[in-house]
This record gives sequence, C-alpha cells and structure tokens, in this order.
Amino acid sequence: MLAGYFDEPPQPGGVPLSREEAIYYSREGLALRQEMVWNGRKLWDRQYVDGNGGNLSCRIGEDLVLCTPSMVSKADLTISDLCLVDLDGKEMLGRFRKTSELLLHLEIYKANPNARAVVHCHPPHATAYAIAGIVPPEDVVPEQEVFVGPVALAPYDTPGTQAFAETILPFVNSHNSILLANHGVVCWADTVTHAEWFVEVLDTYCRTLLLAYQLRAPIQRISKDKISDLLRLKQRLGLPDARLEENGAKGSYEFPKPMTPEFVSEPPGGIELLAREITQAVTAHLVGNGNHPSRRR
Ligand SMILES: [Zn+2]
Repeated sequence: MLAGYFDEPPQPGGVPLSREEAIYYSREGLALRQEMVWNGRKLWDRQYVDGNGGNLSCRIGEDLVLCTPSMVSKADLTISDLCLVDLDGKEMLGRFRKTSELLLHLEIYKANPNARAVVHCHPPHATAYAIAGIVPPEDVVPEQEVFVGPVALAPYDTPGTQAFAETILPFVNSHNSILLANHGVVCWADTVTHAEWFVEVLDTYCRTLLLAYQLRAPIQRISKDKISDLLRLKQRLGLPDARLEENGAKGSYEFPKPMTPEFVSEPPGGIELLAREITQAVTAHLVGNGNHPSRRR
C-alpha cells in the first residue's frame, strides 16, 4: 500500500505520521535526500571535504530544510542520516544531530528566497584564495563567468556561530558563490546538484589560475565586448548575475529544465495532500490489522 513513498517504513504503531514524517518520507523527500547523498559523495571524491567537514542542505516545502548531520563523512552518508529542521534550526527529525554550520545555511535561505539549496565545503584551491584573502580575478575563463560570475570574500569569524553565519549577508543577493576567509566556500542554487556544480567550477577556476601564475606570464583577460556576449548567453540561460541586474535584467534563478537532473516531481496536490493521504492510509492499515501498540519516539 505504501510502496513508493517510504525508504524505511516508520515505526509500526497506532500513531499517525506527523506532518514532518510525511514530508521526510514522501517521494520528494526521498528524491532530495538521495540527491544530497550523491552530491556529498561527489564532494568527497573531489577532495573538497575531509573528515566530517562540509555540509549540504536544501529546502523542502515552505518552512523546512533537509541538512547533513554533524560528525558524518560525506563518503559514508546514507539517505537515512539526513536531518529535517525548520527555518529557526529546530531539529524536527533525524537520528543524528544537525550540522554545526546550519546557521550559515539558514541565513542564506532567509536572506535570499531564490536559494533552495546550499553547499559549504573546503575545496583546496578556492580555499587557498580564501586564506590569502584574495578574490580571483574576473573575465578570464568563460565557464566561471557563465556559471559562477563574480566571487565575493566574506570576512572571517568563528565557524558555527551566528556572527559567522551573518558574514555572508552583504553578498548573498548579488553572488551565488562566496569565499569564507580562512575557512572555505559556500555556494547556493536552485538545487543541491547545481550548488555543487558551482563549487566544482569555482575550485577548478582557482586551480587553473594557480597553475597559470606558475608560467610567469601575465594572465590574459577576455575583452569587455566578449564578456558582454557571455552575459547575454547567461541571460538566455536564465542565470542571475549582478552585472546583468545592474542593467535591469533579472535572471530566473532556475536552470532551464533540460539541465536539471531527473528527479521525482512533487505529487499532484502537493506535499500537504500527500501527507494527509499517507496519514489516512497508515491509520486505516493499522486499524484494519488491529495493531495499536504505542510507537517508540
Ligand atoms: Zn567549514
């Protein structure tokens, strides 16, 4: 009866699923958790996260956020490890504690409603710029200009604190990728997959620059005319860029559909309806089986 909705059935018992449980175990919840696990693995494979470092999150519904847990390597992450929190950081579901960097993610979501997913990690080449306090130059490589655009450098503060989370606020509406001084990077996008792409593009860009500097020749810049061509391409793709918005053109903050990985779409009627249907189905099933033990919490 419930096949397709749950990766793990909740504890058996007579208590209906809570709204948060219904959302966590919904098709959308499962697809988003799977996407986070895949992208965590990509970060680890690319050596952007060491030990238990780095964290990912994405919004689900209007008021909830899925996030990675504290003290779990992104190489070992499973779909059952992810935490569900609200926009105040209150833990709603999860067998592990939420990431200690959640405040940073929440500040981004609160400040920019177009941010639906956030990836924070410590990729070595971009972090090299962050510890040197240097913002990479613009107008050098097309991929960087089209997908990431200008990069900001947020000042240092102690990781995990509210003061640290707020360091990104001056930049979060005009940048999708921010260097965190003496720490790492944070990128946001419409999906976790796209935020992870920004990390890859940015770190590869920084690595390429570092290699080019070793050649001891001046870095060649793309001309302003040709940068305008790239910005027009970016506009056609619907990607935001502060340089475009200065001229009154707004990006949609969403990638064109063909570029979006194939995920299970939200069920007809949305999460709320699905939550009600699951609750009713579970209750009917349990009552039908005469199965009423109280559920462990
Ligand atoms: Zn960090």
